[in-house]
Amino acid sequence: MIQLCNVSKWYGGFQVLKDCSLKINQGEVVVICGPSGSGKSTLIKTINGMEPVQAGEIRLNDHRVNDKEAKLPEIRAIAGMVFQHFELFPHLNVLENLCLGQVKVLGRTHAAAQARGLSLLRRVGLHDQKDKYPAALSGGQQQRVAIARALSMDPLVMLFDEPTSALDPEMVNEVLDVMTDLATEGMTMVVVTHEMGFARKVADRIIFMDEGKIQEDCAVAAFFDDIEGRSPRAQHFLSKIL
Ligand code: ATP
Ligand code: MG
Repeated sequence: MIQLCNVSKWYGGFQVLKDCSLKINQGEVVVICGPSGSGKSTLIKTINGMEPVQAGEIRLNDHRVNDKEAKLPEIRAIAGMVFQHFELFPHLNVLENLCLGQVKVLGRTHAAAQARGLSLLRRVGLHDQKDKYPAALSGGQQQRVAIARALSMDPLVMLFDEPTSALDPEMVNEVLDVMTDLATEGMTMVVVTHEMGFARKVADRIIFMDEGKIQEDCAVAAFFDDIEGRSPRAQHFLSKIL
C-alpha cells in the first residue's frame, strides 16, 4: 500500500533523509520513533506529498506521490494526517471542520457531509460538541476532532505525527483509545510517537530513525524483547525511554 524506495531529501546542504526505504501493507500499524531531529516528521510527511523529496520514489497505492503530475488533494484524502498541534480550522465550528474537505475535495453534498461528520463525532465521543469552535475544546477533544476530520475523507491510511505529545497527561489516553479502536478495526496506520506502551500493545512493526536514516525496521516483539539484537543507537534510545 505504501512504498518508499531510496528516498533522500536535503535542506540546502543538510541531508534530512538518507536513502530511506520501507514498505507498509494494508492493515499494518507501524510506529516510527527516534531522537528529536532524526527526520521522523519529514519521513511521514513524504507519504502524502507534504514534503517533496529530491531522490527516490514514493508510492501510495497507484499514486506516485513525488511525481510532478501527482494529484495531491486525492493523495491527501487517501492518507489522512493528524498533527501534534491539531491544526483545526479555528474559524469553523467542529462540524464545519469535518465537512469542508468532504464538500470541496470529495464533492459530497452538504447534507451528506454533515451526516458523515455527525456519525464520526459520535464515534470519537464528541457528538455533543458539534457547534463549538476549536478554541472552546480541550486539547484531547481537539485532537479527537482532528482524527474524525481525517476519517471523514474515508482514508485508506492514517498518518499520525506525535498526536499526543502536546496534550496534558490526563488527555493522552482518550486519544490513544480512539487510535487503538481504529487499529482494531483494521485501519492501516503510521504513527510517530514516543508512547511505547501504545507501540507495544497496538503496533505490528517499529521503525527506529536516527540522523535521517532508518536504523531499525522490525517486529514489535523483537524491538522490545530482544534489546541485545538492536543497533547500539536503538539500544541507547530505548535505555532512555523505557
Ligand atoms: P522531533 O522529534 O523534534 O519532532 P523529527 O525526528 O520529527 O524531530 P524533523 O522535524 O523531521 O525531525 O527534522 C529533521 C531535521 O531536519 C532537523 O534537524 C530539523 O532541524 C531539520 N529541518 C526540518 N525542517 C526544516 C526546514 N524547513 N528547513 C531546514 N531544516 C529543517
Ligand atoms: Mg517531528
